[in-house]
Amino acid sequence: MIKTDTLIIGAGPVGLFCVHQLGIIGLKCEVVDNLDKIGGQCIELYPDKPIYDIPAIPECTGEELTNGLLKQIEPFKAGFHLGQRVEEIKQEILEITDLQKKLEKIKNIKNVVYKNGLIKFNKKSFKFNSVIQEAYLNRISLSSSGFYSTPKIHFNKKMFSGRPFLYFCYGASVTEVTIDTLTGENIIDRVDILQDAGKAINPALELGQIEGGFVQGQGWLTMEEVNWKPNGQITTTSPSTYKIPASSDIPKIFNVEIFKQGKNKENVVNKSKTTGEPPLMLAMSVFYAIKDAVASAGEYKVIPKLDAPATPEKILMSLNELKNRIRSVSYTHLTLPTTPYV
Ligand SMILES: Cc1cc2nc3c(=O)[nH]c(=O)nc-3n(C[C@H](O)[C@H](O)[C@H](O)COP(=O)(O)OP(=O)(O)OC[C@H]3O[C@@H](n4cnc5c(N)ncnc54)[C@H](O)[C@@H]3O)c2cc1C
Repeated sequence: MIKTDTLIIGAGPVGLFCVHQLGIIGLKCEVVDNLDKIGGQCIELYPDKPIYDIPAIPECTGEELTNGLLKQIEPFKAGFHLGQRVEEIKQEILEITDLQKKLEKIKNIKNVVYKNGLIKFNKKSFKFNSVIQEAYLNRISLSSSGFYSTPKIHFNKKMFSGRPFLYFCYGASVTEVTIDTLTGENIIDRVDILQDAGKAINPALELGQIEGGFVQGQGWLTMEEVNWKPNGQITTTSPSTYKIPASSDIPKIFNVEIFKQGKNKENVVNKSKTTGEPPLMLAMSVFYAIKDAVASAGEYKVIPKLDAPATPEKILMSLNELKNRIRSVSYTHLTLPTTPYV
């Protein structure tokens, strides 16, 4: 008896294509055909006839098409059983493929345990991957949706007290910038971030989230200016007028680390913490680094006036205002930059 993941009846072009598709997702196939050769109608009825309607192949014969398909499935080592006709499909096989029924049964089973890649219930265990593959091949969606209500939170608006959040996310960042005092342009030279992701579920993914969140905040505080006309009409409605960070704007040196000892005290998935949005706030360090750079142009004698987003225009306005303020007060001993101050 041969055990296989899939049985294909018919070694015509469709059967061969199935071997390929199933092979890609790791399923082994056994193919049975009535004919003594592989290729179905293409080989049996018109091996020499030119075919013009195969995508990406301008012209080929029935035989060439079959040979091409055979070459394509070579790596998957399908077993072929030629000259054999399938007369009957036994009931047990039908039952196995009837996954819908099986899943219905599973739904009602209690004490389903998932451990070390295996799903265990009723003293049986199944490989997680094989269940997923079977569901996929049977077009059964494994997605589900639901509504989550954060536990333990409450807030008294009158007393302004309570617990508005289940947990807090912590992070720290240090940013170094260069500003051009003639144009107001700025470059983010270096950013160092340490972020608490709790017990991170997938550190590679969390790092991407942290970088993305930070750059989003960087855009918010340095370029994403929103303008309205006096009649209330917004003028920055599209990327032609609303500037967002591009890949060239990311910090030249960008060091992101996850706090390794992190662990959420609350009972959440894997004791992790969200990393999607909290790092956005770390971009405050970009704004204050720019403000600090402006202050340095006045030798830190006065605090610059700088509004967010710190666009080149705002930085230049801030530098000019700083210069005028210093001149008007008794800071005459200061040497203000006349050449680009970077
Ligand atoms: C003369 C001719 C010219 C054609 N020209 C073109 C063309 O130019 N372009 C084009 O795109 N298409 C063309 N076609 C159509 C094309 O050949 C078919 O659409 C294609 O072969 C179908 O592939 P298939 O794998 O589904 O079936 P088939 O090629 O029919 O293969 C099915 C296989 O299953 C086997 N089988 C069936 N039942 C059993 C069983 N119970 N047990 C074991 N084995 C079994 C058969 O022996 C056969 O080998 C042409 C067809 C003909 C007849």
